[in-house]
Amino acid sequence: MEAKKPMSEGTKSVWAGEKEYLVHGATQVPVVHSVAYNYDDIDVWYEVAIGKRKGHIYGRNTNPTVQAFEDKVKALEHAEAATSFSTGMAAISNSLLTFLVPGDKIVSIKDTYGGTNKIFSEFLPRLNIDVTLVETGNHEEMEKEIAKGCKLVYLETPTNPTVKITDIEQITKAAKAVGALVFVDNTFATPINQNPLREGVDLVIHSATKFLGGHADALGGVVCGSAELVTKIYHYREINGATMDPMAAYLLLRGMKTLKLRVEKQQENALKIAQFLSTHEKVEQVYYPGLETHKHHDIAKKQMNGFGGMLSFALKGELEAVRQFLPKLQLAHRAANLGAVETTVGPARTTSHVENSAEERAALGIPEGLVRYSAGIEDIDDLICDLQQALAAIDL
Ligand SMILES: *Cc1c(COP(=O)(O)O)cnc(C)c1O
Repeated sequence: MEAKKPMSEGTKSVWAGEKEYLVHGATQVPVVHSVAYNYDDIDVWYEVAIGKRKGHIYGRNTNPTVQAFEDKVKALEHAEAATSFSTGMAAISNSLLTFLVPGDKIVSIKDTYGGTNKIFSEFLPRLNIDVTLVETGNHEEMEKEIAKGCKLVYLETPTNPTVKITDIEQITKAAKAVGALVFVDNTFATPINQNPLREGVDLVIHSATKFLGGHADALGGVVCGSAELVTKIYHYREINGATMDPMAAYLLLRGMKTLKLRVEKQQENALKIAQFLSTHEKVEQVYYPGLETHKHHDIAKKQMNGFGGMLSFALKGELEAVRQFLPKLQLAHRAANLGAVETTVGPARTTSHVENSAEERAALGIPEGLVRYSAGIEDIDDLICDLQQALAAIDL
C-alpha cells in the first residue's frame, strides 16, 4: 500500500506488507502450506531459482505467508529488508553465526536473555570466539571494551527480567568508531516503542513469539536491517534450515494487526502496577523503566516512545514469599512466556534464566525473590485487586 504520507505505526500494524499476497479478492493473507511450486517453463523456473525473477521454489527458502509476515515487520522497523526464523533463538544464533568466525571478538552485556547468554558462554567460546560481557548499563566500561576492537556489539534493551536500559545511540557510536556491527534484541520494546535502526544500529532482532504475535500461540523470530546484511543471514538460514512455519506466520500476522493497541494498553497497565507495587510493604524493589526511580529512566525516555509492558519486582522474604504469592494470583498464567494479551508471571529461575544456575543468577544480580510480570490487556482495577489479595496472602 503506497500512501502519500508514510503510514504511522498503528496503521502499519494493520495494513503493511499484505496487499501483494492477497488472492481471489480475499481480504486476509492465505496460509500457503505447499512445500514446492510448479513451473511449466524450465527457463522461468531457473530465473526464479537464481533470484532473477520473483517467485517461490521450495518452502525451506521462501513462502508467501512467511514473506507477508516479514514485510509487515520490515515496515514497522523502518528496515530495507527482513528475514524470519522458526524461533527467536534461531534468529539470534543464525544472525551471529552468519558473521562470526574463529578468532573474532564480540562485546555484549551480562543480562541478555538466558538463551542468548548461553550462546555467549557455551557455544561461541567453543568456536574460539572471544566474548566479553560487561555490567549492563555501565556505558563507560562498554565503550572501553569496544575501543579495544571487536567484530560485533550485541545489545538487548530493555533486558529480561530486570528491565535494564542501554543507551543505543551512545554504544552504536563507539561500535562504529572501530567498524563493529551492532545487533539489538528489540523484543521487549517492540517496534512501537523503539526503532534501533534509526540510531544507526545494523540489525534488529525480535522473538516474534512474544509481543509481535501477542497471543502465545506461535513461535517465531525475525531480523531486520539493510538488504546487504539481511541477504547474508537469509542465505545462512535457507541452508541451515531454521525456517518459519506458514501457519505460525499466519498467526503472527493476525496478532500483529493489534500490536499498537495491545502495547499501549500493556504499558499503561505496567506503569500503574509498578507504581502500586512501589508503595507496598511486602515488596523490596520494583524494576520498571517508566518509574523515575529507575537508574536509567532518562535514557529510556530519550530512546523509547513508551516504557513497555514488562516489569519485575523482588518480594521481601525471597523464594518462600514467591512460593506463597504466585499460586494466589487469579488473573495471571504462571508460565515461561511474556508479551501475551493475558498477564503472565514467573520467577526468573523458571522463565528467563532457567538455563542458569542459582550462582549464575546471583552473579547476574537476579534475586531469587524476583517475579517477572508481563502485563496483559485486562482492566487495571482487576489486576491491582488481584495483586493486592495475593500479596496479603504472604505469611512469613
Ligand atoms: C523469548 C526471548 C528470546 C527467545 O525467543 P524464542 O522465540 O523463545 O526462541 C530472545 N530474546 C528475548 C528478549 C526474549 O524474551
